[in-house]
Amino acid sequence: MRAVTDDPEWEACMRQFDERMMDLKAANECVETLPHHATPGLCDRCGTELTGRRRRWCSKRCESEWAGQHYWNAARNNAKRRDGQQCVRPGCGVTTGLEVNHIEPRIGRGYGWGCHNHLANLETLCKPHHQDVTNEQRKGRRAVGHIAAPVDDNQGGLW
Ligand SMILES: [Zn+2]
Ligand SMILES: [Zn+2]
Ligand SMILES: [Zn+2]
Repeated sequence: MRAVTDDPEWEACMRQFDERMMDLKAANECVETLPHHATPGLCDRCGTELTGRRRRWCSKRCESEWAGQHYWNAARNNAKRRDGQQCVRPGCGVTTGLEVNHIEPRIGRGYGWGCHNHLANLETLCKPHHQDVTNEQRKGRRAVGHIAAPVDDNQGGLW
């Protein structure tokens, strides 16, 4: 009988699981940095007293503020809005067919939620500029052997 660790599919599955757990841990630590997280009964974000069955957020607004930095669909829209619905590369200014790039690549994370979707890690690009970045990232990934640095350490961008 083969040992489980010889099975590449199993290993890939475990690796994905580990990455998910790391994302979860990072996101939990991220929650802990919110100003009122340590005080029960107050909204983590704005400190408003919680009523009824609310546990963390006082309102949809505070909740979506969080979602907008962690859930891909919301974060992507926020990034485009922040960037004025145009490619952020100097002198480009293209406003159609926009895509949103993870500055620190979201290797293996798919489009799941997590701290890699912080707005500081997102930039709006036109298709050709996004393609440039993707090609560069591919090259870099080969060089560093698939190791991704933690997102929050990289405010300035990798490339
Ligand atoms: Zn609030
Ligand atoms: Zn976060
Ligand atoms: Zn562009």
